[in-house]
Amino acid sequence: MGNETEALHILIVDDEQDIREGSQRILTRIGFEVSLASRGDEALEKLADTQAAILLLDLKMPGMDGMDVLARVKKKYPDVLVIVITGYATVETAIQAMKQGAYDFISKPFEPDQLRIIVNRAAEKFRLKTKAQQLAREQRRTLSDLATEQSRIRTVVESLPNGVVVTNNDGQVALMNPAFRQLMGLNVDFEFGQPVDAYIQDPELCELVMDISKGKYIDYEDIPSYEFSLNDETYLLAEAQPIIGRKNQCLGAVVNLVDITSMKVLDRMKSEFVAKVSHELRSPLSTIHEQLAVVINDMVEVTPKNDRKILARAKEKTHGLISLIGDLLDLSRIEEGVICTEPQPVKVDELLESIIQFLQAQAKSKNQTLKLETQATDLPPIQADPLALESIFGNLIANAINYSQEGGDITVRIDMAGINLRVKVMDTGFGIEEKYMDKIFERFYRVKNEKTRFITGTGLGLPIVKELVTSLNGFIDVESVSGKGSVFTVLLPAGDIDS
Ligand code: ADP
Repeated sequence: MGNETEALHILIVDDEQDIREGSQRILTRIGFEVSLASRGDEALEKLADTQAAILLLDLKMPGMDGMDVLARVKKKYPDVLVIVITGYATVETAIQAMKQGAYDFISKPFEPDQLRIIVNRAAEKFRLKTKAQQLAREQRRTLSDLATEQSRIRTVVESLPNGVVVTNNDGQVALMNPAFRQLMGLNVDFEFGQPVDAYIQDPELCELVMDISKGKYIDYEDIPSYEFSLNDETYLLAEAQPIIGRKNQCLGAVVNLVDITSMKVLDRMKSEFVAKVSHELRSPLSTIHEQLAVVINDMVEVTPKNDRKILARAKEKTHGLISLIGDLLDLSRIEEGVICTEPQPVKVDELLESIIQFLQAQAKSKNQTLKLETQATDLPPIQADPLALESIFGNLIANAINYSQEGGDITVRIDMAGINLRVKVMDTGFGIEEKYMDKIFERFYRVKNEKTRFITGTGLGLPIVKELVTSLNGFIDVESVSGKGSVFTVLLPAGDIDS
């Protein structure tokens, strides 16, 4: 139907040629597009082809009567505004035409100005009406788009196999899906709107969700994923994130819950299997190792040199296997939580002193210096199993010796960092490339390069260290520069711990 920038189309229907053409001139000059018809039927035909906005209609024409034309136009083209041209001030006909739906009228004879005013008024009315219709259409479309979008998202969330719960920034539940209800054992009548702890039975997770909802986490990466179990039967992994609004404000939190029970069961089975196999292998291997030692000891000078070499290698390999089994059994014990069952106060500086004394010979054999630095006096003891601490620092210091060249320096420093006891094991050795930094804590991972090729190991030392530090509620970190050296930092909470 045309818009504001387009010229509106006007159809003039009059049997008098002068009026037709005169009006056409006046209206074309002020920017309208004009077409002409001299009869009613011709006018109806032209209306079908042109998109006329306004019809100037003479009521007195031969053939089809103007009133008739008006009735048909109103029926077929209700948006077209009809201005009737009445002959010689016949007010009555004008009124009748208005009743039939004409928009306005003009009486013959008329001045050009009169025509301009009346047609401009009609044009304005037409434009406003078209605009309003367009706005209404757009609004209908946006609303229906929105409604479709919302129901689409709702359907997706409802059908997710993971449990999803959304809170507002007061930590009240605003949305949850059927999987969440099922995992939490909530029936269908359980309504939204209550604080999250009414829905999730784990206080620590609720606290985390509350903190996220209230915008306490700015950096997503700082948000820990959280594992918990329901009645020791179902294990769940929760991952939560803040919902950030357009103005960067925190609107609440969204939590995704995944059932990891089957993974946990598999993991447990795998650990039990490893523990069992390791256990079964240990005694025959130890026997072979001992017997090899006896045979080598008893060998006489005349035994061929090659035989002695072969047996010595076999003994070395069995020793490697025994230490691998030892590490595997240690890991299983840590996983079962056996290794830290009886914590007692341990003076870590004294413990480090004795480990260093024990490993001093090994360092000396590589012309390395190995020393302990303590600045603080009276360091508080750590509540822990002494064997666990020995394993942590023994492994780190042995690594520092192993992965440093002849003549390197190894320094163990102990001090306090806030409420934590901090131990740094620093070496001037091979260092670790950035890309291996996380990998070295994975089981069996060993960096293989020219320098480490001939160093024997199991790749289980650091995983054991990490498990033990975590079980003591501590933290381990490594900084290293390839070719320059490494610093392993362990933080352990001083004072009472609950585990
Ligand atoms: P292992 O020493 O038995 O190989 P670990 O788990 O203790 O197993 O260490 C894994 C890997 O990390 C090592 O193979 C080594 O490449 C690297 N690494 C550990 N400590 C150091 C260190 N102080 N300097 C350089 N590399 C190290």
